[in-house]
Order: sequence, then C-alpha cells, then structure tokens
Amino acid sequence: MKRICVLGDTHIKHWHQLSTAIKSEFSSSDYILHLGDFDSLELLEEFKKSSKFYGITGNHDGPSLKALLPAQDIIEIDGKRLGLVHGHGCSLPWGLRRGLQARFRGEKLDAILYGHTHRMNNVFDRGTLFFNPGSAAGRFPAGNASYGVITVNATLGSNLFTVENTVGVEPSSVLPEQLSYCVVNVEEYYNTLTRL
Ligand SMILES: [Zn+2]
Ligand SMILES: [Zn+2]
Repeated sequence: MKRICVLGDTHIKHWHQLSTAIKSEFSSSDYILHLGDFDSLELLEEFKKSSKFYGITGNHDGPSLKALLPAQDIIEIDGKRLGLVHGHGCSLPWGLRRGLQARFRGEKLDAILYGHTHRMNNVFDRGTLFFNPGSAAGRFPAGNASYGVITVNATLGSNLFTVENTVGVEPSSVLPEQLSYCVVNVEEYYNTLTRL
C-alpha cells in the first residue's frame, strides 16, 4: 500500500506558516503532492528537499517557480495513473470535470487531482476520482486549512481532512492583487457549483 499526502493552494511565503498538522503527515506518507499556488519560491525549495515531493504550478506561481515545475503532470504509482493539474481556466464553458478531463485528452487516468477553487472535493465519476484537497492555508472561501490522503492498493482510497486552529496567512499580509484574485475566484467558485 502506498500513502500519498495531497495538498495545494498554500498561498504562504514561509515554511513555518504551513500547518504543523499537515507537515506531520509528510513523514508517514510515501509521496507528497502539491497542486499549485505555492505563492513563494522559498516554500517550493523547502518541499523540494524531500525526495517524496512532486508538484505543479498554479496561476499564482511566478516565473521562478514555473522554471522548476511543470504546469501539469501525470504520475504512476503502483499501476494507478494520477493526473495533476491546478485547475484554473477549466470550469468554462462545459463545467469543471469536463474541463479537467480535457487537459488530459487521450490519457487513461484513475484520478485527476486539482486545486484552485479552495473547495474540497472527493468524488468518483465514471471510474475516475476527482479529488481537490482544498486550501492548505485555509484561504477564502475555505474556512479551515485542509489536505487529503490517497491510498493506492488494488483500488484507490481517498480521504479529506480539515485542520483546526489554522494559522495560515494573517489578514494584514493579504496584498491588493490577492484580494482581486479572491473576487475572480468567487466567480469561478459559483460557476463550479452550478456546473458540477
Ligand atoms: Zn489558490
Ligand atoms: Zn489558483
């Protein structure tokens, strides 16, 4: 059995801002997957110290992160194929699931792991797991930090966890462009709700 810790949308500058409850999962996991929107090179460099780490970039990750990670990826673990994509720009015009699948056209996948909406999701649709671990910093509209664990056996197991007493980012450090991002994200969030 392989255990995969899945997180994304950290949106923090420093490693110490990441929840200790989430970090404590790393030692008991065989893989650590980050689905984009690290929001700082410092954070990515900390993740890259682990040989278990795989990641992709999100719409909030600048050129220095894009130089180090792909925008999407497929990894195979014990015969299960997992598609990793951040998910921005995927919800229109046909809905999020079809948009996510379109990014992997021609590929047979057991799961599509995505983020961006800051909204947890854990559902099988016609043999494919659609899994969103929410925001690991509890960023709006998430109320709490959250992450996911996927287990690979003969089948896939998938669970989501929220973290109480989220530390995350202090409101004073939210920059104006991040606030406008939140507004855009709300629109996409509601599109997601109506189109899923
Ligand atoms: Zn995000
Ligand atoms: Zn995003």
